[in-house]
Amino acid sequence: MRRKEKHEERRKEEIKGFLMAAIWGILLGIAVVFAAMAMRVAAAPQRVQQEEQEQKEQEQSIQQEAEEEQKQEAEVLIFSQGTEEKSESEEQKQEEKQKDRQPKKVLYLTFDDGPSAENTDKVLDVLKEKNVKATFFVIGEYVRKNPETAKRIAKEGHAIGIHCDVHDYSLLYRSVDSYIEDFEKASETVYQVTGVRTRLFRFPGGSVNAYNKGVREDIIAEMEKRGYIYFDWNASLEDASGGEKTPEELVRNAVDTALGRKKVVLLAHDRVEATALALEALIEAFPDYRMEVLTVDVEPVQF
Ligand SMILES: [Zn+2]
Repeated sequence: MRRKEKHEERRKEEIKGFLMAAIWGILLGIAVVFAAMAMRVAAAPQRVQQEEQEQKEQEQSIQQEAEEEQKQEAEVLIFSQGTEEKSESEEQKQEEKQKDRQPKKVLYLTFDDGPSAENTDKVLDVLKEKNVKATFFVIGEYVRKNPETAKRIAKEGHAIGIHCDVHDYSLLYRSVDSYIEDFEKASETVYQVTGVRTRLFRFPGGSVNAYNKGVREDIIAEMEKRGYIYFDWNASLEDASGGEKTPEELVRNAVDTALGRKKVVLLAHDRVEATALALEALIEAFPDYRMEVLTVDVEPVQF
């Protein structure tokens, strides 16, 4: 009986011990969990810092990438500029080739006695459409009357030369002084209206005419001394000499008088209506010619 009690006592002790151990174990477990949480909390600011650092690094690398990209773009730009330069020189070569292929014959389309309010704009319209540049020997009096048309001539890339200020043969060819006085007035008008200072001129009636016999040589000498260059012509539409002519006749006259020369300076008058009407067909009647403006570098055609 006593032994049984003792045994009972020991069992109880054992159970108690086991329970205590279990409780301690649980408590320890809880403590460990808490400790781990505490450590995590403690480590949080560090982690934030780390994240910030990582983000910074990422941003830096993005920036670096962007810089790298920019650099590459710049290189591409430099490269493409290089190729542009290359293609420019290619273009030059092509242009030269095209020049070789261009007609060897040249035609200088020249218009006297304008600008006219009624007709010069029609002439300019056709020239623009056909992409042809011409030379206009203008009259000062009409430049003052039609300044907008005169400006248009210059603006659209045509050459301007002086014809005279007032188309009056007897006054012009009275003396060298009389000629020079008229010329300077026209020259000043052209400059004031168009901004063009020209050294090109054409004598009214041409350098050899019925009115300048006595003064011709002296006028030419004086004008050349002043640096001016005169241009006569070697083909003509014959559009100024009396009688109404049809556009077809004018084209035929031009072709017949040009005689297929290598260099043609063709006389026309932009104030004549039939000339404006004939212009498109006229340009097409010279397919083997390139059409250019007169310049101081062109060897002049003189009578
Ligand atoms: Zn004239």
